[in-house]
Amino acid sequence: MNASDELARLNSLRNLRLLDTLPSESFDRITRLVASYFNLPIAAVSLTDVDRQWFKSKVGVEHDRIPRHKAPCAEVAETGRMLVIRDFHADNYYADSTLGNAGIRFYAGAPLLTPDGYGLGALCVLGAEPRNITDDEMATLTDLAAMVMDQIELQHAVGRIEPSSGLPNRFQLLNDLSDLAQRRPGGRHIISLLDLAQTAQFDSLSRVMGPSYLDSLIRSVARILNTHVGQDSTPYHVGPTQFAFFAPAATEADLYSQTLLDILMEIERQSDFHMTMTPSIGVMTFDPTEMQAEDVLRSLQSAVQDARDSDTGIGWFSSATDMRHRRNFRLLQDFPVALETEDELFLVFQPRMDLDSGSVEIAEALLRWNHPVLGPISPAEFIPIVEASTFARGLSAWVIDQSLRHLAEWKAQGLGFKLSINLSALNLEEPDFFERMMDKLKDYAVDPACIELELTETAMMKETDRALDLLQRLTDTGIRLAIDDFGTGYSSLAYMQKLPATIVKIDRSFITDMAKGHRERVLVRSMINLSHSLGYRVVAEGVESAEASDLLQTMGCDEIQGFWLSRPMRADALKDWLADHTSRASGLA
Ligand code: C2E
Ligand code: MG
Ligand code: MG
Repeated sequence: MNASDELARLNSLRNLRLLDTLPSESFDRITRLVASYFNLPIAAVSLTDVDRQWFKSKVGVEHDRIPRHKAPCAEVAETGRMLVIRDFHADNYYADSTLGNAGIRFYAGAPLLTPDGYGLGALCVLGAEPRNITDDEMATLTDLAAMVMDQIELQHAVGRIEPSSGLPNRFQLLNDLSDLAQRRPGGRHIISLLDLAQTAQFDSLSRVMGPSYLDSLIRSVARILNTHVGQDSTPYHVGPTQFAFFAPAATEADLYSQTLLDILMEIERQSDFHMTMTPSIGVMTFDPTEMQAEDVLRSLQSAVQDARDSDTGIGWFSSATDMRHRRNFRLLQDFPVALETEDELFLVFQPRMDLDSGSVEIAEALLRWNHPVLGPISPAEFIPIVEASTFARGLSAWVIDQSLRHLAEWKAQGLGFKLSINLSALNLEEPDFFERMMDKLKDYAVDPACIELELTETAMMKETDRALDLLQRLTDTGIRLAIDDFGTGYSSLAYMQKLPATIVKIDRSFITDMAKGHRERVLVRSMINLSHSLGYRVVAEGVESAEASDLLQTMGCDEIQGFWLSRPMRADALKDWLADHTSRASGLA
C-alpha cells in the first residue's frame, strides 16, 4: 500500500469517528456471535490506526489495543482481503508477533471495507490451538464483517442525515469540505447557502400553516436543489431553513447569479406563500486548501445576510461586509459578558436645561461600553445590534438598575434630581416590565416622578394595545414618557395622540440644520408649535451653540440638551457640574 493510499485510508477511518469511542452492544452482539460460531475464545472488531490495532468490540481479551506492527488485522486492512493463519508456529512472519508471543495459534480475519474500497480493519477470531477453516466458515465470517460495516455506516449516518429532508446535514458538509481539500486540492469551487426564511418568519409560518406544510415545502426545495446540483453531488440541509450546495462542475461564476435567481423563482413558485417568506442565497468561490471548513460556512452565513438586504435576494460574499458582520457578531457575543463584568458598561449623564428658568433638574442617562479589546464602542453602534436581540431586555434592566441606584444616591445627598432613560421597542413586549420597574423603584425608594422614559416614534408605532396599556400603567404611577428623536420616524399624529407621552424631543438633525437657512428654521418652529398645540412639552436635542439656544428660546422651545450646555459626563462630574451651574444661574438671576 503506498503512502497516499494509506493516508486516504486513515482519513476515511477518522471521518467515521469510531476510534476511541465507547463499547456498543450492536457491535458486541456480532463479536459474541463470531466467537460462539467458531467455538473459539477470542473475537474482535479491530480497527487499523496509524500505529495500533484498536478494538471497537472484543470478547476474550482484556486490553483494547495491540501494536500495529506484525498485527494480522493490519494486513487485512491493507490488502482488503481475508487472512487465515492456521498455525502461528508454522508462519515465518507471524510466529514472533505480539499475538504469536501471547500464545495465539490460530487467526482468521475478514476485512471491514468501506463502500469506496478502503479497509478499516478486520472482524477477526482467534484461538490458542492450530485450526483449519471451512469454506462455509469463511463465507460466514465475510458476511458478519459486512454486517459490522453496515452497523458502522448506520451509526455514522445517524446524526448526519436531516430526517425532514433526507439530506446530509451540516456535519456531513463540514466533513466533505475537509475531504475536498485532500481529494481535489488546487481548485476553486462555488458554494451557495440558501436561506428560505428568517427564523421568526419560519416560526410564524409554522404556527399558521402547520409543520406538515413546512415538511412538504422542505421536500420540494430539496428536489429543486437536487436537480440543480446533478448526479454527482448532493445538497446539504444545514439548518431548519438553510441548504448548502455546490455549483455543478464547470459553472462560470459570472453567469451563476442568473441560475441562482431562477432557483429562487422556482422556490417561490412552489411555496405559494410569497408574502411570508423571503428566500435568499449567499454564494462564494473558495479554494478548499486555503479555507477551513468552518470558515466556509461562516462566510456563507455572512453572504446570506447581505443577500437578505439586497434587491435580488442573491449575495456574493464580500470581505468588507464580512468584517462588519464579524464585528457585530462579536459585539453581540460579548455584550452579555459585559453585563456581568464590573466597569465595562457605565452610564454617563447629559443635563437638560429649562430655557425659561435656566435651571437643570433632569439629565439623560446614556450607556457607554468600554470593550476590553476593542476599546470604547459607541452606543450608536452596539445598541441597534443588541436591540435586535433578546439581550435588549438585559440592557434596559441594567440601565434602569444603575439609573435608580444613582438617583437613590443623589437623593441621600439631598439632590432632588431626575433622570430620563432610553428604552427599546422590545422592552414593551416584556410581560413583567411593569412589575419589575415597580420592584426596582421600591428597592431603591425612588419616586416614580423622578423618572422619564424615552421611546422613539418608531418603537412606539410598532406597538399593540398591550404596549399601549403598559405605557398607560407606567405613566399612571407618575413616570413621564417622552417621544425621542421626534421627526425621524413615520409618526401618525392621530396615533401619537393616543400615547400617554407628555414630552417631545426634537431630533438633533433638525436642530443642526437650523443653521442652514430660513426653511429649516421654519420647520423647527412648526414642530414646536404643533407639539405645543397638542399639549406636549418640547425639548430640543443636539444644541451645539449659544445662537441655536437663543433661537430656540425665541421659538418658545421649553428645554434644551446638547454639547453647548454640556457633553454627557460621569456621575461624579455631573455633581460638580450641577453645583457650578446652579451658582452661575443664581449669579445671573
Ligand atoms: P439619543 O437617545 O437621541 O441620545 C442623544 C445622543 O445625542 C447621545 O449620543 C448624545 O451623546 C448625543 N448628543 C447630545 N448632544 C449632542 C450635540 O450637541 N451634538 C451631537 N453631535 N450629539 C449630541 P449617544 O450617547 O452616542 O447615544 C446614541 C443613541 O444610543 C441614543 O440616542 C440612544 O438612542 C441610544 N442609547 C444610548 N444610551 C442608551 C440606553 O441606555 N438604552 C437604550 N435603549 N438606548 C440608548
Ligand atoms: Mg434619548
Ligand atoms: Mg434622541
